[in-house]
Amino acid sequence: MNIDWNCIDTVLLDMDGTLLDRHFDDHFWLEHVPKRWADQNRTSLEFAKEHLYALFRSQENTLNWTDLDYWSDRLHLDIPLLKQEVEHLIAVHPFVVEFLLYLKQHGKSAWLVTNAHSKTLDLKMKKTRLGPYFNGIISAHQVGLPKEDDRFWNALQDFISYDPDRTLLGEDSETNLGTAERFGIRYLVYISRYSSVVIPTPSSNYLSINYFSQLIPGHGDKAAD
Ligand SMILES: [Mg+2]
Repeated sequence: MNIDWNCIDTVLLDMDGTLLDRHFDDHFWLEHVPKRWADQNRTSLEFAKEHLYALFRSQENTLNWTDLDYWSDRLHLDIPLLKQEVEHLIAVHPFVVEFLLYLKQHGKSAWLVTNAHSKTLDLKMKKTRLGPYFNGIISAHQVGLPKEDDRFWNALQDFISYDPDRTLLGEDSETNLGTAERFGIRYLVYISRYSSVVIPTPSSNYLSINYFSQLIPGHGDKAAD
């Protein structure tokens, strides 16, 4: 991959799908929650899915989307508790730790920047122990805007001082890469293998990788098979 690390000081990384296997989140919201909701409301799983998927869609691109308290209230379910039931599916993508070590060894400022709610973050950091590799962790809930909002990356500068021209962003959301691009973040990387159960499709707009090993000089595309 043609990344000149001499030109980059700051690395911003998304969490779900980028560092962690999105299979956990997809399974949780699309299967586990509907199953529990169907049990509680004595409906069929099919009805629960139809009803809940429509509710989820209605909150897309908002902070409610990732707000566990919002969904606990709205669905009358203990969402954090349900997450714990499937926490065995929380997994770090291959080569993420190697990449974070590379950033540390080369003095880059590395930040986890996520739409995830603090309760999700706590559970995932406890389970994966990735926290100490970062200079800091910023949740969109602190910023008050989701990453899908064009104003997000500017507002983020109140929390992290970064030069967009010397910053790399890794994301599994092309929408979020788009808002970052419009703000002026220069190095944009799409993670096409966001889930261990999908066949990766590269982005037609952004540099795409399957694994972070592809960004480590000398590591080559070793893992891309
Ligand atoms: Mg993501």
